Formats: sequence, C-alpha cells, structure tokens
Amino acid sequence: MSSSMWQFSKRAAALKSSAIREILKVTELPHVISFAGGLPSPDTFPVKKIKQAVDDIMNSDEAFSALQYGPTEGYKPLRQWVVNLINQREQTNLTTDNVLIVTGSQQALDLIGKALIDKGTKVLVETPTYLGGLQTFTQYEPEYVSIASDEHGLNPDELSDSVAQSASFLYTIPNFQNPTGRRLSAERRKKLADKAKANQLLMIEDDPYGELDYQGHRLPSLLSFAPDNTVYLGSFSKILAPGMRLGYVVGPADFIRKLVQLKQAADLHTPSYTQHIAYHVIKDGYLGDHIPKIRELYKTRCQFMLEQLEKYMPKSVRWTKPEGGMFIWVVLPEHIDTTTLLAEAVKNNVAFVPGESFFATHPQKNCLRLAFVTVPEERIEQGIKILADLIK
Ligand code: PMP
Repeated sequence: MSSSMWQFSKRAAALKSSAIREILKVTELPHVISFAGGLPSPDTFPVKKIKQAVDDIMNSDEAFSALQYGPTEGYKPLRQWVVNLINQREQTNLTTDNVLIVTGSQQALDLIGKALIDKGTKVLVETPTYLGGLQTFTQYEPEYVSIASDEHGLNPDELSDSVAQSASFLYTIPNFQNPTGRRLSAERRKKLADKAKANQLLMIEDDPYGELDYQGHRLPSLLSFAPDNTVYLGSFSKILAPGMRLGYVVGPADFIRKLVQLKQAADLHTPSYTQHIAYHVIKDGYLGDHIPKIRELYKTRCQFMLEQLEKYMPKSVRWTKPEGGMFIWVVLPEHIDTTTLLAEAVKNNVAFVPGESFFATHPQKNCLRLAFVTVPEERIEQGIKILADLIK
C-alpha cells in the first residue's frame, strides 16, 4: 500500500512529529545519560506486591470479573477508594457519581479537550505547562491564553476578570509542575480559587505529582477551595506504575456523566484487569508505606542534582529548587537556544528536553527540563558536568 491510498483528516495531518523527538530517540541508547524522559524510577515499582495481587485475583472467582467487560465509570470499589481518599484529605463531600476511572490521566485530558474545546475556544494555561496537555488540547484547536507564572507558580493577579470570564477553562498543575517542578503557594491557591468562583471559571487541576512531596506536607487542592469549579485529575502512574495506565477524574456529577459518554465512545472502559489489580494492592493502606519510600529516593536524587548544578554551572544559569516531584527547570542566558544545545549535548551523550515546546504561546528558547529520578548519582554528576562545559 502507498500513502496515496488514503487521505488523512485535517486533524491528523496537522500533527507534526517534532524535531526534538527525533533527536531524543538516541537517548534510549544505554551509554547516553538521559535527563530527558519523564519516567518514574522502576526501582519504585512494587513488583512483588502486584504479583501477589494478580495471584490472589486469579486464584479466586474475582478472576472472571477482572477479565470481563466492566462499567465505563470504572470498578466501583476503586471509585469508592478514590472517594474516601479525597473526602478525607480535601474535606469534600464526594460520592462515586463524582468519580470516573480513566486509562491514565492523559486520557482524562483528551476527554476534557473533546468535551470543552471547539475551534477558537479560549483555554488558559500557566506558562510553561505540560507538553502532553498542550498536544492533546491542540487537536481540538483552542486559542491559548498564557497566564504569567513565577517561582510560586501561576500568578492569580495576572488573571484578569475579563480573561477569566472569556475562557472555557484554566488548565493548571499546582504540585511540582511538569516541567518546572514548582508548586503553587497556599496563598495563591486560595486567591485563584476565589477568582474562579467569582468569574464562574472552571479549573482543570492536574495532580500526578501531589504525593511526591519530599517532606510529606501537602497543600490543600484547588478542589478543596472550589469544588464546584474544579475538575481534579489523579494518577497511579507515579505512585504505583505508569504501565498500568490508571488515573481518575473527580468533578461535578453532570460533568462526569458527559465524560463517561465520551469515554464509552473512546475505549468502553479502562481495563478491568488493571483496576482489580490496583485495588487489591492499595485497599489495605499499602500506599501509606510505599509512597514515603518513593519520596525518599526522589528527594535524595533531587538534592544530589541540585548540588551538582551548584558545583558546575556558570553563575549566569538559574534553576528551580523543587520540594517534590521529578523535574528541575533550568534557565540559561538569553542568547542560548536549548534546541541547538541539545544537538551538541547528544553528541556528548547527554540529553534533556529543550524548554520551548512547553509554552503554549511565546516560546522561550533558553530553558530546559531535567528529569533526575532514573539516573544514578555518578551519572548525574557526569551529565551535569558535560552540560555545564557546553554552556560555558
Ligand atoms: N499530567 C501531567 C502533568 C504529567 O506530567 C503526566 C505524565 N507525564 C500526565 C498528566 C499523564 O499521566 P498518566 O500516566 O496518568 O496518563
């Protein structure tokens, strides 16, 4: 067959494979020190516990429901687990009608894009923001409005009432954001939630990193301040294993019902199999022991990378000092284009993600994202030294 056999839709044809992705292909080679991938550390995957859960399910009658089609909304006990978690943590009054299980929170972003964006719909984003969120929303042709952000996250003072009223929603990642690692301050959360309430603005609160607070000290969610204005996305990717593709959406019941219709058309439901396994693993409080181990590992790696940046980088370079999560954001002098720098770095067997693709509008070319959790310490030091030498 040849490509003249078909004509891609305008939507599919508009998707470009990025030059950066091409360069980053080599980063999978074992000799490359890659700070590029946003992968959790496999050292944290609870392999034995998952194997035990699979054995328990397969040795009982539950095997048949775990292997059967299930409801689009998700496996009820897992939804109830989410309800209990969020109600206790955020002082909300949710029921299972407020919860949809999704095939990774990435699917939630796609369903939300489908539900809310027509061509030209205004979507507010912090700047920079999660590349995968932008890729998903862009398919539905929104008009992005970037809201200025600084080291304390999105600045609610930069969001005017008229802009808030003109938009369909605001997409934000308040905890240890991808790509910057920064966290929205408690004061700004309250202010942003008040602004959303006053202007009837919907907030999409994407929170895959909230549990990865190195001190185990969570700030209240936007959901807790403004439950009627917030759709909250949770994920098991960074606290269990991303290969399970499990996440959840919490929101007003009528919003959830619309997402259920969209999800039914997309994939009927998230695999019963992984939902049953995850539920078995977490139902008796396992995460209470497991998550602190992840935090400890990530904290040590982050600390180590920060020390190496301090040791090797020239004075003109700045970076974030995350209190949780998996990423450090580095800002170089303005004349350095990090896409050009990446090509040089890859020749020297080091990789990172250039910052420009994390901007919905007005890309900044002098920034880059470093992921530290999958790289052992001696390679972190080697990699940062190589990068610093190239920058100098
Ligand atoms: N949102 C953000 C901010 C992310 O960083 C990621 C994963 N890199 C996702 C959503 C998607 O996560 P999941 O594995 O739950 O689909």
